Amino acid sequence: AGATAAAPRHETLAALREGYQHFDPRAYLQNNYLPPRADFSSEEFVVPWKLRCLAETFASGEIHGRTLIDVGSGPTIYQLLSACDHFEEIVATDYLAVNREELGRWVRGEPGTFDWSPFIQHVCKIEGRGEPWQEKERRLRDRLSRILPIDVHRPDPLGAPLRPPADALLSAFCLEAVSPDRAAFARALAHVGSLLRPGGHALLLGALGESFYLAGAARLPVVPLAEDDVRTALTGAGFALRDFRSYAMPPALRTGVDDVDGVFFAHAQK
Ligand code: SAM
Repeated sequence: AGATAAAPRHETLAALREGYQHFDPRAYLQNNYLPPRADFSSEEFVVPWKLRCLAETFASGEIHGRTLIDVGSGPTIYQLLSACDHFEEIVATDYLAVNREELGRWVRGEPGTFDWSPFIQHVCKIEGRGEPWQEKERRLRDRLSRILPIDVHRPDPLGAPLRPPADALLSAFCLEAVSPDRAAFARALAHVGSLLRPGGHALLLGALGESFYLAGAARLPVVPLAEDDVRTALTGAGFALRDFRSYAMPPALRTGVDDVDGVFFAHAQK
């Protein structure tokens, strides 16, 4: 019942977990991955900004290997579109079965799943290799071979070590959206960092200055982060920062589905 009420100032992990039981993947997708936020007519909108950060980072060719793990994938695949060209296997993860099931339906190409084709077309365009978008879609479906349960609050988030450890780690809008405070955010980052091999790359996208977001009946509390909180947590978790970018949410995209101020992108190396 507390999930839709005003959030208490100090959330506990138990309250956060309870809140996620009301998370509605469809509503979340609608709030964040349809216009106005997912508008591909201009790079000033937030979704094209996120896709460009990832496309430019992977274009260097430096980040590649056998396995990339995506932490807290939710019901989304946009974050894997540039990554999937550089890894043999993509491991998606989420705490909620409803999100893992949504991803599984997309991988199997079942009817009625969210339409990611505008995202795939846009990424093919900005990558500039003239690749037909259907080929990228097929490649991601082939490589997204595992969709696993995860809990970033456990020192061993997958319940067992990933063997061999991941060559790269990606996480978008997860750690701050599941942590009651900055200390929990930093601990969660260290937990997921343990899935990565030494020398491996970590790419984080996330919300700045956000205190809540909506996903249907769920009102999820978020720890409001400043840019320096992210840098400090990365350093504390044993990462060297390679790139840091931020985006200010334009007034037209402040639609009431959250109170986000901006978005950060960090590229770090273990
Ligand atoms: N990565 C997606 C994106 O970029 O839109 C989804 C982000 S969504 C804001 C946060 C995700 O964290 C949800 O899919 C939720 O199920 C997941 N989550 C909730 N509790 C978690 C936990 N303890 N460990 C890992 N993920 C969790």
